Amino acid sequence: NAPTIFAITPTFARPVQKAELTRLAQTFLHIPNFYWIVVEDAINKTELVTNFLHESGLIYKHLNDVTPRTFKLGKNDPNWKKPRGVAQRNKALKWLRENYNSSQNAVVYFADDDNTYSLKLFKEMERIKVIGVWPVGLVGGLMVERPICDASTMKVTGFNAVWQPERKFPMDMAGFAINLRVILEKKDAWFSYESKNGYQETEILEQMVTRDQLEPLADCCTKVYVWHTRTEPSHLKEENLLIKKGRKSNVDIEV
Ligand code: UDP
Ligand code: MN
Repeated sequence: NAPTIFAITPTFARPVQKAELTRLAQTFLHIPNFYWIVVEDAINKTELVTNFLHESGLIYKHLNDVTPRTFKLGKNDPNWKKPRGVAQRNKALKWLRENYNSSQNAVVYFADDDNTYSLKLFKEMERIKVIGVWPVGLVGGLMVERPICDASTMKVTGFNAVWQPERKFPMDMAGFAINLRVILEKKDAWFSYESKNGYQETEILEQMVTRDQLEPLADCCTKVYVWHTRTEPSHLKEENLLIKKGRKSNVDIEV
């Protein structure tokens, strides 16, 4: 029978949050055996996310863990300056390790809230024994960043990454999923704020797997089923003027 797919999604309050979560939830509703772990970057769980999940129709676990202040991106910091989602992904790993054992047939995927996911990706994940890998569109300065797969051996022989190709696993977070058994066995593997820019993926993977264990999916890594889309920050110039006048547009309306 098909494994449970745990998707771990860090999320934080901003004007586009509900739109992002809606897009994700309505993709995830189509996936059988799907379990959404949503981790808010917040001191307390918000009403917006609590109500959203309650009404979503999905099976989910709602967690929260705030990013320490020193690691939070400043308003004008470029996004590569600090690792994002570290505390939240770790919170989810901890929850999985405390609540499941290896009798649970499952796969764990780190699904950021702004990417675009094809349903085909989740079908591929069902075959993962240790770690599955696949191409990610629109990331690393390329149209597609991907493992190079030898079709005769079905082994990963390298990567096409141009950005920091010296990483042992030069992949985006969206480009792999791991069998729950591995997450449970490697119980001391965590994400770290100390990771150099762009090293989050390789550092967690180095703690859990070796390169020869990579299982190429998506037709020997020739198909793109996930895109590293990024949502433009909303422009709220007029809203800011209204706020100054004490009559913002969303009084009593959740956006
Ligand atoms: N995130 C978060 N707190 C933050 C910034 C980001 O929880 O202060 C979440 C975000 O919602 C997303 C994940 O962490 O699910 C990765 O962030 P982002 O998409 O900005 O990273 P990038 O696409 O730039 O790698
Ligand atoms: Mn993103």
